[in-house]
Amino acid sequence: MSAAALPRSVRLGEGVQPGCGTALGVGMESSSRFVESFYAPPEAFDAGRVVIGDPEARHIAAVLRRKPGDFLHVVDGEGARHLVELIDCVPGRVTGEVRGTERVEAPVPELWVAAGLIRATRMDTLVERCAELGARAVVPLLTSRSLSANGISAARLDRWRRIAAGAMTQSARLFLPRVHDPVGVRFLAGVAGGDVAFVVADPSGASLAEIRLDGVKRRRVVACVGPEGGFTPEEILRLLTPSGQLVSLGWARLRTETAAAALVDRLAFLLKI
Ligand code: SAH
Repeated sequence: MSAAALPRSVRLGEGVQPGCGTALGVGMESSSRFVESFYAPPEAFDAGRVVIGDPEARHIAAVLRRKPGDFLHVVDGEGARHLVELIDCVPGRVTGEVRGTERVEAPVPELWVAAGLIRATRMDTLVERCAELGARAVVPLLTSRSLSANGISAARLDRWRRIAAGAMTQSARLFLPRVHDPVGVRFLAGVAGGDVAFVVADPSGASLAEIRLDGVKRRRVVACVGPEGGFTPEEILRLLTPSGQLVSLGWARLRTETAAAALVDRLAFLLKI
């Protein structure tokens, strides 16, 4: 469904994610943006209706026991939050009518995290934390000292993508973080595209307080964190060329997933996104 076709669409400023009920004037009890929201991709919307499939449908119908006539928020992962009235509600398929829509612009710069591949369960945590804290993409990095991609099944990548979607709705964000297939360090720049700044976490780096913010005010900022064994000097050099900065997160040696979350959060704060 195009933006123009959306009923009572409300345009809001960059990075602003206000409450839904007030803006739409529909008298919902759910006037805060912290009400539970659900994810359905843009293609699930058509002609003012949304059809939500599992696992969200099961959660809505079987766990939360929502019924026709109930309202909920459905986000499309591309900046729209819809107020939806349920009209049919069974596990496997929940259908609703869109009663109102808010749209926000994507925050700029877009913050990504590229992290050396770690044990799958630890990577689950990394994806969840970084997505909650505002990372728009997670790139698992193949490095000299990381696990190889062989242990990463398609099912595990799917799981990380589901975790990212859950973290988006959990944190009331409107943009679905993408989880990329694992790439080698030398391919990261290609995946990240142009106009990118790299911020590489290493205890030998400068304090984040000294980071040159003008140097990271690009379209995209990629927070890079090494695997359990750390980056090699060659990998650090490659990540810093041509537009990277090496930053320390303090004297404590953090696990990869902790360092990733800390770096994402501190960069989000500095970049005001
Ligand atoms: N065994 C490695 C530590 C790896 S920790 C070593 O001794 O060097 C995993 C990654 O987390 C590191 O590669 C780095 O990117 C990040 N990290 C952990 N603690 C950090 C800190 N205090 N400052 C900056 N980066 C840190």
